Amino acid sequence: MRIAIIGTGVSGSVAARLLSTRHEVTVFEANDYAGGHANTVDVAVGGQSFPVDTGFMVFNRRTYPNFCRLLEMLEIPSQPSDMSLSVRCAKTGLEYQGSSLNGLFAQRTNLLRPSFLKMLTDILRFNRRGMQAAASGELHDGRTVGEFLHNCRVGRRFVEHYLTPMAAAIWSSNPREILEFPAEFMIGFFANHGLMQLRGRPQWRTIVGGSRKYVAALLEPLREQVRYACPVLSVARSPHEVHITSKYASRESFDEVVFACHADQALRMLVDASSAERQILSAFPYQPNEAVLHTDTALLPRRRRAWASWNYHLPRSDDGASSVTYDLSRLQNHASQTPLLLTLNAKSEIDSTKIIRTFNYSHPAYARDSLTAQKRHREISGRRKTHYCGAYWGYGFHEDGVNSAVAVAAHFGIELSACTAASTKEPSPIAVVSR
Ligand SMILES: Cc1cc2nc3c(=O)[nH]c(=O)nc-3n(C[C@H](O)[C@H](O)[C@H](O)COP(=O)(O)OP(=O)(O)OC[C@H]3O[C@@H](n4cnc5c(N)ncnc54)[C@H](O)[C@@H]3O)c2cc1C
Repeated sequence: MRIAIIGTGVSGSVAARLLSTRHEVTVFEANDYAGGHANTVDVAVGGQSFPVDTGFMVFNRRTYPNFCRLLEMLEIPSQPSDMSLSVRCAKTGLEYQGSSLNGLFAQRTNLLRPSFLKMLTDILRFNRRGMQAAASGELHDGRTVGEFLHNCRVGRRFVEHYLTPMAAAIWSSNPREILEFPAEFMIGFFANHGLMQLRGRPQWRTIVGGSRKYVAALLEPLREQVRYACPVLSVARSPHEVHITSKYASRESFDEVVFACHADQALRMLVDASSAERQILSAFPYQPNEAVLHTDTALLPRRRRAWASWNYHLPRSDDGASSVTYDLSRLQNHASQTPLLLTLNAKSEIDSTKIIRTFNYSHPAYARDSLTAQKRHREISGRRKTHYCGAYWGYGFHEDGVNSAVAVAAHFGIELSACTAASTKEPSPIAVVSR
């Protein structure tokens, strides 16, 4: 069969590799690199070059089983990562780091702040209530995170300085959106990922040499089949074929098409979307993320002992935007004297002379309708010669992307084990930036 695959993020790359074991695949990619959010770039600082991940960075062995299987099959090594979180609130002056007592009390006055100590007890209360709720199935009633927190009777400080910063950093969203997330979705994720346990949390990991290593290994056997900088403009289905118009070809015919891009992008390409496709694909709103790679440490907490891998900054005024700064040197274990930082959604606060490069990503912001739409996947995928995969069919992370591609491959009778190691060639650098 001739199968067109649209997108080379984790979902498209896995789908392409698996389907190529039995079919003739053609892969369309709008960018000039493969990987989508798995986007590693080389940064030169202090006379050394470091491969830094500017989108997907971390995973763990407990909750990413299929992604880990894939890495094993491709023989891609990973390393433990430091997943500490700090919070800095410009309005109250609060700063803390969540991975150790020293960090928690980075600001020694936190020991004397009743509001901070109340926040710590609220964390324990929330963890207990959240674990009970996740186990009992009581969250299927469609309530939002905000409604769940109201019932938990936790204080404002817990919500503003702990829960929403952590969740907003995880989903690259803003705190207001987090409160509108379905509680079933967020609490379920926290329970699965051990985020409501003080002990026994999974060890997070990064890929040695950056995420491009696994993307290159995955697509190595498909070098001739991937068309870069070749966005698909439209997709039309007839009873026997799928017609694709892309930037470089006016009309090509395939037997099947796999959309491995975001839901809104897929909907825009479809010239003959069914009403189910319109309803389902429009139920995933996307949040734009401007990710700035830089070396400006002013975006980190003022106290060095509060510095963490994920640094959340709450603005002085209520209408200001919150931001998160990832310390990629810590996360990826880079021996760089200068911290290599990636900040989401706060470009104006970064010293422009310290900016290396800017990336534009977008990430699903889940609403109640999104969960309903996820349950309707089979209504549109595997029908009319059309298949849908992408991390948005799950929690929005890499394991979800892999699982969604595995589900598409299963439709064609192909399993993940079809993906075995191929000879890999060092990928050409995606970008070389010197400072
Ligand atoms: C800043 C950031 C950090 C993240 N960190 C993590 C993390 O540490 N761990 C984790 O598990 N997840 C993380 N994520 C979530 C991440 O989105 C998912 O893990 C996953 O990478 C998404 O994969 P995907 O294949 O669904 O989509 P994408 O990676 O977005 O791939 C979609 C692809 O489709 C292509 N495309 C779109 N339109 C067209 C078109 N018309 N024609 C051709 N191609 C097209 C795009 O160019 C893109 O390559 C992060 C996300 C962001 C934004």
